[in-house]
Amino acid sequence: MRAELEAVLATHGFSCSRICLDKLTQYYDILLQWNAKVNLTALTAPRDFIYKHVCDSLFPAKFYPISSAHSLLDIGTGAGFPGLPLKILYPQIQLTLVEAAAKKAAFLRHCCQELELEAEVLWERAETLGQGNRRETFPLIATRAVASLPVVCEYCLPLLEIGGFLLALKGPRGGREATDAQRALELLGGKLTQVYFYSLPTGEERSLVVIEKVCPTPPQYPRRPGVPAKKPL
Ligand code: SAM
Repeated sequence: MRAELEAVLATHGFSCSRICLDKLTQYYDILLQWNAKVNLTALTAPRDFIYKHVCDSLFPAKFYPISSAHSLLDIGTGAGFPGLPLKILYPQIQLTLVEAAAKKAAFLRHCCQELELEAEVLWERAETLGQGNRRETFPLIATRAVASLPVVCEYCLPLLEIGGFLLALKGPRGGREATDAQRALELLGGKLTQVYFYSLPTGEERSLVVIEKVCPTPPQYPRRPGVPAKKPL
């Protein structure tokens, strides 16, 4: 697993030190141990971890300069994707992980401790965080597989500072999703910057939707927990 991971990252321009490879393999081991008791991910084969988790988390950095980001917020991070692989490769990033499920948040805390990664883990819903004192304070948010784009926008845009960027990691239909999210963007103070299309080394198609926060988000957003997903903007 380690040799294949090292080779694929090198091939795709990600320089990964021995320490960084140690951390990624240790992360996989802890994920497997915990997955036996907590439902973290259905993708547990070594190749799934390499391609569908690590590559999928890192490839957006080919298009947006995440490597030079000062801080990053990952909303609905689950077992730590995309936040933890990005933190392992770019340790200078100040990382905040937000996850609504208590057991997943406990896994993330354990993982960060074992891997000696300094990261803030918040067991909280995005809607609650977005109405609190961290509102409009984050310069960069990344999120994968949490909800449709209008819902993701309502979770994330209230938390972004003006001039900050949201990176939504999507499947092949990111362009269509961006069109469908136009109304949500207008209501929440966001503007579509670009959609990048690319493939993982396994051939699966992906897209990266980049959104800029251009105006303050009106105070009624995000709506109460559960409402954005039930009644998308
Ligand atoms: N981002 C991870 C990944 O790509 O593997 C996890 C994806 S999982 C399908 C979605 C995660 O988002 C779940 O762990 C869920 O608990 C979390 N989630 C969903 N809605 C949320 C919300 N409103 N606030 C915080 N977390 C949320």
